[in-house]
Amino acid sequence: MGMHGSKPRRQAQVLMLGLDQSGKSTLLYKLKYNESVVTVPTVGFNVETLDTERSSPGLTIWDVGGQRKMRPHWKHHYADTAGLVFVVDSAEAGRLDEARKELHRVLKYESLRGIPLVVLANKQDLCGAFSPEEVCRRLEVRRQCEGRRPWFIQPSSGITGAGLEEGFRRMVYLMKTPLRQTQADIQVKMKSKSFRITALLCG
Ligand code: GDP
Repeated sequence: MGMHGSKPRRQAQVLMLGLDQSGKSTLLYKLKYNESVVTVPTVGFNVETLDTERSSPGLTIWDVGGQRKMRPHWKHHYADTAGLVFVVDSAEAGRLDEARKELHRVLKYESLRGIPLVVLANKQDLCGAFSPEEVCRRLEVRRQCEGRRPWFIQPSSGITGAGLEEGFRRMVYLMKTPLRQTQADIQVKMKSKSFRITALLCG
């Protein structure tokens, strides 16, 4: 439900994927309710809406369970997806290889061709977490995406909330921006205040 008048908001579907325990449910509830919640492994999916600037579509975020047995179901959510957020536990060195393989598998799907990717290098609050640059390198994001889809790596923490709004603002921006725009251009434009996202309680 929109809170800005009677006209219904356009909604863009954003799919949030990542290995189990990467922090998807935690960051979704932090972003939406500014609350830290005790999460249980997602069986099925969580759906939340985030309100954005009037000129941008609202975002419907699908958090699909990341456990191994859930991953074959990810593909059922690909149709109508306008953006992909891939969440990585930056502090879990032992699972970055598994995360890379899952990310590459997802990016191969025809129905996700060309759509923007934001990688959240999550759990940056933990000591020893890899930098976003290192996460980017280990996931081979540049090689997978350059020239094919707009992408961005955003450091974040689902516990402190750092980087979460920025990550989803980047997504809104990337959804509106032609692929040919450079990363440098994106950084300049992202300083504009017009991409503010506020959490909106729905339903
Ligand atoms: P999901 O399986 O990807 O949905 O992961 P959860 O949201 O259930 O989080 C898994 C565990 O990681 C929980 O114990 C969270 O409290 C913890 N966690 C999630 N995000 C962060 C973070 O940014 N920093 C830290 N330190 N812990 C986190």
